[in-house]
Amino acid sequence: MHNSPLATHHSRLAPSPTGAQHVGNARTYLVAWLAARSQSGTLALRIEDIDSPRTKAGAAEQALADLRWLGLDWDGEPVVQTARVPLYEDALRALMQNELVYPCMCSRTDILNAASAPHAEHEGPTYPGTCAGRSARDAATLGVPYAWRFRVAESPVFEDRIVGRTALDLQSLGGDFVVWKNAGTPAYQLAVVVDDAKMGITEVVRGDDLLPSTPRQLLLYHALKFVPPQFAHVPLVVGEDGRRLAKRHGDTRLSALRETGVRPEALLGLLAWSCGWLDRAEPVTARELLPHFSFETIPRRPFVLTANHLRAIGYR
Ligand code: GLU
Repeated sequence: MHNSPLATHHSRLAPSPTGAQHVGNARTYLVAWLAARSQSGTLALRIEDIDSPRTKAGAAEQALADLRWLGLDWDGEPVVQTARVPLYEDALRALMQNELVYPCMCSRTDILNAASAPHAEHEGPTYPGTCAGRSARDAATLGVPYAWRFRVAESPVFEDRIVGRTALDLQSLGGDFVVWKNAGTPAYQLAVVVDDAKMGITEVVRGDDLLPSTPRQLLLYHALKFVPPQFAHVPLVVGEDGRRLAKRHGDTRLSALRETGVRPEALLGLLAWSCGWLDRAEPVTARELLPHFSFETIPRRPFVLTANHLRAIGYR
């Protein structure tokens, strides 16, 4: 219905079924939906369920229910990462053949002990290169669990549609990164690049907590000879203390809002106002926002969600 067969804009929604979707996820999905639909583009839905120990039963279905409640639709059947492992294996093999990855036996503790410099909380210490002297061919002789690490030689700079020019130093963000975990499963960085490339995605809209992942992913695009998409990283929603939305800020799960009778239009109005598309937070549908959409008005700083905002949309 929404797509011209000539659409050249292809985007995706990519929920992780590791927990409930909250107000912050809704804001990112709204931006992604409007960006796609305002350009007559296609919008795929991908369930990122390869993070096996953290994946929760029922969370994928819940995410789809949350999106439907918001009135955000997608095209085709959901794509499920756990059904695509052979594609990720092919990509890993290509990286091995070109010696762009090496087997790494270091445990988290080994790396922490070897780290000399302080490191960003979410990124962990920079990998000290302990196993970097190995060849991909050495893997067969190791006889113990190992991960595959990608050799980081540079830090690609990119132009983000919201954040602007982004230059991050991958050496200080962890250095050589894992593309295949020692549990024998693909890591997020590899799976997401293979999926976005194979699905023909031309624009990735996601939360700006993933900004440090983008230069890594650009290295993988280059190594695998895939054409990279454009990126738009949406600033996160934080609580009144400036910290990322979490339980301490009360229950901001979309399912909790829905169950207490909040209207999706009320939430969408608040989110649209927070993105600079409306002067006031008035109830609105996603479709009504189409003519108002622009990346340019989205503030580059996080959106602070207050108790007053929640009360104003009829929550508690
Ligand atoms: N699954 C990730 C999330 O829910 C998004 C990954 C991506 O968009 O690249 O945060």
